[in-house]
Amino acid sequence: MRYFFKNNNISILLFILVLSISYLSFYNYKTQNNLLLKQMGNNAKHIASSISASIKHFEDIKSTVSLQKLVRDLSFGLEIFDFRFIKYDGIIKNSMFKEEIGKISNSKSFQEILQGEKKLKTFFFEKRDFVKVMAIYYPIYRNKDLVGIIDLSVDIVEYNDMLDNNKFILEQRKIDILNLLKSIESSIVNNLSVIEETDTDSFLNAHINFTTNIEQILLVDNNTNKIINSSNKGLVATTYEMNNSSLGLFTIDKKLIYKTVVQNNTNNTKLVLLINAFEYAKNEHKLLQTAITTSAIALLFAFFIAMGVYNSAMRQSRSEKERLEYLVKERTLEIELLSKIDALTGLWNRGYLEEMLEMEFKRAHRYNHDISIMIIDLDFFKKINDTYGHLGGDEVLRIVSNRIIECVRDTDFVGRYGGEEIVVILPETAITGCQNIANKILQSISAKPIKFESDLIDVTASIGISKLKKGHKNQKALFYEADLALYRAKREGRNRVILFDETVEA
Ligand code: GH3
Ligand code: MG
Ligand code: MG
Repeated sequence: MRYFFKNNNISILLFILVLSISYLSFYNYKTQNNLLLKQMGNNAKHIASSISASIKHFEDIKSTVSLQKLVRDLSFGLEIFDFRFIKYDGIIKNSMFKEEIGKISNSKSFQEILQGEKKLKTFFFEKRDFVKVMAIYYPIYRNKDLVGIIDLSVDIVEYNDMLDNNKFILEQRKIDILNLLKSIESSIVNNLSVIEETDTDSFLNAHINFTTNIEQILLVDNNTNKIINSSNKGLVATTYEMNNSSLGLFTIDKKLIYKTVVQNNTNNTKLVLLINAFEYAKNEHKLLQTAITTSAIALLFAFFIAMGVYNSAMRQSRSEKERLEYLVKERTLEIELLSKIDALTGLWNRGYLEEMLEMEFKRAHRYNHDISIMIIDLDFFKKINDTYGHLGGDEVLRIVSNRIIECVRDTDFVGRYGGEEIVVILPETAITGCQNIANKILQSISAKPIKFESDLIDVTASIGISKLKKGHKNQKALFYEADLALYRAKREGRNRVILFDETVEA
């Protein structure tokens, strides 16, 4: 029972330990996972911010390649009315007027150029915004390919009145303008390569190529929710639907995606960034595995400890039980023995003596075997007690008992019947054998005086003996006859052996 409670306590302790370790490892997993998520979110925001800043910077570069500035620097004092660079498809790629960049040129004269009604590199006059200008469409080639057309016009109001008179001045102007165009041609071609080859799409694509885990970049107009630009060209000009997927982690086509949005306040757009969260998922998986493994190991350890404790407790309890059983057996035997032994002399006590006498009598009687008994009574023992005290008498009793024991066989039975009366049962012994042993006992008792303190005590004893006879009904008859013989031994002067016979009975 004690072990049960002890084991139970250890089990509860182990259970709590496993629970704590599991809780801690999963708590750790949760914290680390949150950290991972936060880190990924920060990274995404960082990337988005840097892309957004880059786009702004890029737009700035584009606008600073300002033809106006270019022209002003090289204009030789020409009154330039407008100056734009139009791609062959009609889209105005650059202009003195920023607001028209990206729009399609709808000027009538440009349409005429496209339809071949007007010649390139040829000056003509027309009214633009109610102002009379002299204009020219000047082609720009790169690697022999026509990449665009410069639309340049100069204000000729000052020459209006004297148009005819100043024909020479006007011709001079034309030459100046052509010179200007030639001189800026190469510069424009260079700038074009910057602008043409680095549009926002390819810029965004470049980001995707350099940052392996970016899935998609979208530049979205805040007001119209139209996708202005995207790494995926197919999405451009479609409506961006913010609602069908929230921010943060989610899956698209079984792919774990992390989405983040950064506002561009300068041009009222937002940058939407979709990042592949594969790395995060991998790390998260590892974290979870570690947590599970830790818990499993803790559980395994606890199990083995519990097994060990249980086994050792079982072993202990088994050996303890065996030990106790052995002790009980030993103690029982001891008690049993003590209940049969006379404390003073170490001989068998009266109870056991009577038991044995009955048993031995019955056995001999039944099988018709010999059995003899003798009753030994110390002579004048009262006197010994009176002379040497009770302790002296006790010492005499102990020594005499030892001397008797030494005279008999192991199979004989010696017991203390009363005060100083000792009975010897001799199984399988005829009366002559018994007589011999009795005489030997008398000799042994009286041979040497018994030493008590400074005194030497002379001791003698009288012995009456009897044997089993056919007429005996029980052991009492046998005992009675031995007692009669003893009485006679006393009467005849003590220190002698008397065998029961008819004379005794008489
Ligand atoms: P007899 O020769 O006729 O036997 O004389 P006796 O003095 O021995 O007489 P009896 O046998 O009647 O006396 C027995 C005495 O033994 C009486 C008692 O005081 C004493 N006695 C009995 N048991 C013990 C004992 O355990 N120790 C001691 N010291 N004396 C005992
Ligand atoms: Mg007596
Ligand atoms: Mg006596």
